[in-house]
Amino acid sequence: MLKTNSVEKEERRIVREKKTITEMIGLYCHDHHGTKGKGDLCEDCQNLLTYAFARIDHCVFLPGKPTCKNCTIHCYAPAKKEKIKEVMRYAGPRMMLHKPILAISHLIDGKKDEERIQDYLERKAKKSRRSGEQNS
Ligand code: SF4
Ligand SMILES: [Zn+2]
Repeated sequence: MLKTNSVEKEERRIVREKKTITEMIGLYCHDHHGTKGKGDLCEDCQNLLTYAFARIDHCVFLPGKPTCKNCTIHCYAPAKKEKIKEVMRYAGPRMMLHKPILAISHLIDGKKDEERIQDYLERKAKKSRRSGEQNS
């Protein structure tokens, strides 16, 4: 189970994850849809970014969310999943040059994904045991 300081750390990580996805969609949009500058996105890419933020905010794994790449659930709707994969394929390799600190942090974050997923499964099992006890 995550301790309070770990929860704070995880919250900071979520902020970083949002920054990373913003940069990646920005890179993709600028190179494919002719947009320019920070925060300038076409309508489709803006919708994708808003969607990705909403998925993060409602992620079932919170507070210990894994990186979406290593997720065992994949909550994205099929069309959005395809789109984000396309963005990742393009922007992923370019992030190391564009935003190396974010790119490296994201790689490091991914190393703890198994632990985060395990923690979620334990919390879920505990909750279902508790509700089983209450119903018996
Ligand atoms: S894909 Fe997985 S990790 Fe990403 S937001 Fe959805 S449930 Fe959470
Ligand atoms: Zn775009």
